[in-house]
Amino acid sequence: NADLQQQVRRVTALREIDQSIVSSGDLSVTLGMILDNIRLQLGVDAATVLLLKTHTLTLEYVAARGFTTALQGLAVRLGEELSGRVALTRQPLIIPDLQNVLMSQTWREMLNEERLMAYFAAPIIVKGKVLGVLEVLHRQPFEPSSGWLEVFEMLISQAAIAVNNDGLFQDLEQTSLELRFAYEETIEGWARALDLRDHETEGHSRRVTDLTVKLCQHLGVPSEKLMDVRRGALLHDIGKMGVPDAILLKPGKLTPEEWQKMKKHPGFAVKLLSPIKFLRPALDIPQYHHERWDGSGYPLGLSGEDIPLTARAFAVVDVYDALTSDRPYREAWSREQAVEHIRTGAGAHFDPGVVEVFIQLLKLS
Ligand code: C2E
Ligand code: FE
Repeated sequence: NADLQQQVRRVTALREIDQSIVSSGDLSVTLGMILDNIRLQLGVDAATVLLLKTHTLTLEYVAARGFTTALQGLAVRLGEELSGRVALTRQPLIIPDLQNVLMSQTWREMLNEERLMAYFAAPIIVKGKVLGVLEVLHRQPFEPSSGWLEVFEMLISQAAIAVNNDGLFQDLEQTSLELRFAYEETIEGWARALDLRDHETEGHSRRVTDLTVKLCQHLGVPSEKLMDVRRGALLHDIGKMGVPDAILLKPGKLTPEEWQKMKKHPGFAVKLLSPIKFLRPALDIPQYHHERWDGSGYPLGLSGEDIPLTARAFAVVDVYDALTSDRPYREAWSREQAVEHIRTGAGAHFDPGVVEVFIQLLKLS
């Protein structure tokens, strides 16, 4: 009898979700309802849905229940953290105890704060395509029974229907995610090789790249362009491959001849990358990152809005990061000194509009 009551409750819940899928125009409302049901019917402390953004190969939280921290809008890169692995491998992941699991500091701290210790997640798949990930978290270890998994299956397929029904997700690219991911990883490998030659500290390229993508988002660069921004930023100095070590690693000021050679690096980047069809749309940053707003830059001496916006944005981030890092020819400046330098350069070296947004962005982080 208790069984029957439970069955009735489940069927009623499913009907409510169906209703919401048909009538609610708001995907996050429907997904929130599914998460409420997961918590209620499966007796777990927290649950989330992340959806895949194919332009940036990131997963973004669109609904969460049971967290005190706001997750909405937070992004995870495909292949990273736990949810990123679930989306990439298309395999459910069950971790009874998160204690010894590898993850970033940010997530570790968040999970500790929420006291969540057990994890279960599965990919949301429609017609063979991964659209997102549904995560379940609990404050005690848990071992899902087959009955539990059955209910979970039912609810995650409702989530899949809801996401698929949402118009926004109908133009997913056909290229297989695994292939695209392997491609991005290869580019990141090149970027690490470049960092190594420059004796850059680990993660320099990634740092500049993440900040540039964020800045471009704030500047209103359309999301379809962000993957090219990312690739271009990762490879911005690939042209330095054509600059001899004696110049690149020189501990002092460059002679005029050496400087002539150094100034060829944007041109080398074009030679290197333009034969690669995939990377041609990503050339703006490698090619134009040393142009200056007032026309005094190189290689072409472009000025103002003739310089592509993404390159104007990158120039600010590049100089900021260069100044706050040690170089063979000088030691790192403080954050404040670097910000002051950028501010002073607004209207001369840098696009003043970009500088304003950049400084706001730094204050936020
Ligand atoms: P980088 O070291 O990655 O620097 C990128 C950009 O940050 C520079 O572009 C410049 O706009 C800014 N920047 C970096 N350090 C300083 C600094 O100490 N003071 C000021 N005011 N700005 C700075 P830039 O000038 O076109 O240089 C391009 C690349 O040429 C640099 O990339 C670096 O690899 C090389 N380079 C520049 N100056 C020297 C130098 O005196 N000695 C050596 N060995 N290399 C240099
Ligand atoms: Fe450069």
